Amino acid sequence: YYKTMENKFLIKLMFIGDSTVGKTSLIFRYVHGIFNEMYLATIGIDFKKRTIELQGKNLTIQLWDTGGQERFHSITQSYYRSAMGIFLVYDVTNPNSFCNVEKWMKNIEQSAKEDVVIFLLGNKADCIETRRVIKDVGKAKAAELNLDFLETSAKTDKNVKKAFEEMTKKVMAKI
Ligand code: GDP
Ligand code: MG
Repeated sequence: YYKTMENKFLIKLMFIGDSTVGKTSLIFRYVHGIFNEMYLATIGIDFKKRTIELQGKNLTIQLWDTGGQERFHSITQSYYRSAMGIFLVYDVTNPNSFCNVEKWMKNIEQSAKEDVVIFLLGNKADCIETRRVIKDVGKAKAAELNLDFLETSAKTDKNVKKAFEEMTKKVMAKI
């Protein structure tokens, strides 16, 4: 089912989390290698892909980017089903986005596959002055919810590649 051809694999990953936490920027950084300050709200759901080689296998990574707005909730729900990995993103400068992690987890529990791999990402780790959620608090929340955890920055590229690599490896281990 996941295996399209000999040695070729299709990995479906999804990004969720409140608006403006940096979901689109993280995807953009990973796919195009750049950071764009301009804010373009994601409407509904958007899609990008990147092919990589991992342990001699050719992987096509599909990235589903969602708009965090409630009005797109129903569209998004249908994508949870096919996701093999989910990045749940909050913004370390925005405590509200961190509080909403539990709310997003409920969506995952309701709609995603039971064995989906979930990473909690605390994004905008480059923001030292404006940080409001310390790393240990994010880490503790991830431990409580039994999720993998990383702090990232789409701006400085901190842990972006690492997040995708660790996610991909975990997903591949389940195929
Ligand atoms: P989304 O709504 O979750 O897709 O968020 P966006 O990717 O559109 O980003 C929202 C805003 O946050 C934009 O102005 C981005 O430039 C900014 N942003 C995203 N990631 C980072 C980051 O890692 N560091 C900083 N300083 N700003 C970021
Ligand atoms: Mg977006």
